[in-house]
Amino acid sequence: MLKSLIFLLLFTLLGLGATAQRSQVPILCYHQVRNWKAKDSRTDKAYIIPPSTFSAQMKMLSDSGYHPILPDELYDYLTTGKPLPSKPVMLTFDDTNADQFTAARPVLLKYRFKAVYFIISGKIGTHKWFMNSRQVKQLSDEGNVIGCHTRDHTDFRKLKGAEWQVQIADAKHELEGITGKPASYFAFPFGEWNRAGLPELHRLGFKAAFALEQPRDATDPVMTIRRIITPGYWSPQILDQHIKRDFGRSNPMTLSKR
Ligand SMILES: [Zn+2]
Repeated sequence: MLKSLIFLLLFTLLGLGATAQRSQVPILCYHQVRNWKAKDSRTDKAYIIPPSTFSAQMKMLSDSGYHPILPDELYDYLTTGKPLPSKPVMLTFDDTNADQFTAARPVLLKYRFKAVYFIISGKIGTHKWFMNSRQVKQLSDEGNVIGCHTRDHTDFRKLKGAEWQVQIADAKHELEGITGKPASYFAFPFGEWNRAGLPELHRLGFKAAFALEQPRDATDPVMTIRRIITPGYWSPQILDQHIKRDFGRSNPMTLSKR
């Protein structure tokens, strides 16, 4: 009896805050995949990776034994402790840029890497710069995950009233109509979020949400998963250093703000 009580107590203590205590998986965030132009500033180049650099980074991940995972695997790991492959990483692409399909996809296919594409639904097919619905569907059919990035890239912290429906619920449904699959994951535009809005994401049926470099919310870590923007000027070696230095830590409160 005593033995089982002690076991129960230990089990409860271990379960408390287990999600927040689990090691963070390195999640890389990309935007445009194209060669730099003369007018691109240093800041722009954080969001623009030349295809040759992207290819070199993916080769490093492959050669170093990293295993790109998808959000369902991460969610199961964070919520239940289900094991991940060794050296897990996640590759994510924001903003619907067409070059993610034309330039990044062939590289990912070469290494058999799957990725997550956070789509701004209102941009689909509106310009040659953006993916069309056929491309979004193809990425999904090829085993990649299509996630929601609002309809118009609206700041999550400023959503109110009917905007929750238009910017998130309708955008989610539109993506589901294109892919025929649930869109269960969300990425905050600009990486910005506020705690007050997080219950809305649960209410609208999202399993997890992805921010950028700020620490996770200690009370809702699954809705504030960290990612790092991978600048186009990071060599494969620099990327490897950042993956090792920034992630894998268990306590989100000890992460420095950058
Ligand atoms: Zn964005």
